[in-house]
Amino acid sequence: MHETTVFTYHVSLPPTEWAKASAARRAAGDLWTRLVKIHRFCRRRHWRWPTEAQLKAHFKRCFPLHSQTVQALIEKFGATIDGVRTKRRKGDKKARYPWRFRRYFNPIFKGQALKREGPYLLLPLGRGRDPIRVHLPEALPAGRVVQAELGFGALYLTITRALDDPVVTASDKAGGLDMGSIWLGMVTDGHEALAIAGRGLRSVKQGRAKALARLQKKRSRTQPGSRRRKRLNRARHRLSQKVNQISRNALHHAANQIVAFCVTHDLSVLYVGDLGTLNQNTRHRRSRRTNQEVGALEFGRLEQYLGYKLRRHGIRLIPISEAYTSQTCPRCGHLNKVAGRTYHCQACGYRAHRDGVGAVNILTKGMHGEIRPGEILVPQRITYRRPVPLKGTLRRRCG
Ligand SMILES: [Zn+2]
Repeated sequence: MHETTVFTYHVSLPPTEWAKASAARRAAGDLWTRLVKIHRFCRRRHWRWPTEAQLKAHFKRCFPLHSQTVQALIEKFGATIDGVRTKRRKGDKKARYPWRFRRYFNPIFKGQALKREGPYLLLPLGRGRDPIRVHLPEALPAGRVVQAELGFGALYLTITRALDDPVVTASDKAGGLDMGSIWLGMVTDGHEALAIAGRGLRSVKQGRAKALARLQKKRSRTQPGSRRRKRLNRARHRLSQKVNQISRNALHHAANQIVAFCVTHDLSVLYVGDLGTLNQNTRHRRSRRTNQEVGALEFGRLEQYLGYKLRRHGIRLIPISEAYTSQTCPRCGHLNKVAGRTYHCQACGYRAHRDGVGAVNILTKGMHGEIRPGEILVPQRITYRRPVPLKGTLRRRCG
């Protein structure tokens, strides 16, 4: 079995390399814009759209890029169009074909053309042109680099590695995970529970909102195109990158802690409240996460990280509909309105931690296909963890 992961690195390039990188990103932007124009031209006239093969032949040796880079971008464009077409067929009329003209676009470098030179990765720009030399980070994960994408000060490496055969756990023990409002996640196997705090993430987000508002205010007092405006734009970009990095890091740590819980408790299945129902069931979701401190985006990311991290240990992550899992009383089955951190049953007086109730109900629902009140109660022993040690720097960095 193979596993493919995309790693993001921030790269700082010396001026010569930066110039080459900018030129390549510019050329990729030109190519993308040409593709958008051609596609739009054909669409408006109801002509047949050119195939990828035709486009590849057409744009051969037209851009100062490696031939495989040109091909990869055309393939990416093709994939984007296919995606939109499927969406539109399904009735999503808002789905829009690529329309934006791009000044810059991230060039893609295919694995076969990539070369290593000591600590450097050489991104080829085609025959007769010097490659871009990017210093690789020291701790590069094991595996084969199959693709590199060059962003603005960032490098995205797609790395595949062979996985050991999944450790097959003999037991059929299952766990339930509720990605909650107060806690980022609460996982339980019915006997013990682990709660991961979302507070670190929340404070980062709040810090960002404040800082962004401050930047926006300053920005509104500047002239478009002025040096001051550009400087503020850069600051905004840096800020959002930083916040993105911090939240990704926190989510990885949270996922690792949940995985560790599953491994030590010998679980083979982890049920999780499905995020796919988020759109169909917005009313229910919205009422549950009114003060949405940690956004849906974060939960999606956490689920994604969990999926592949659990797979490494042979544990399956199964999403199930989380309808009523937060309201149903795990002892008597009464539906309660939930307010605040504690779940309180109006019928039988049962009290428990709110996200614990969700996790328990998800667990029984996953095992039996329906919520079974009275079978499992919220464990007495709940361990509380933060995804990453919360340092004062978190807030200082973004505030
Ligand atoms: Zn009850």
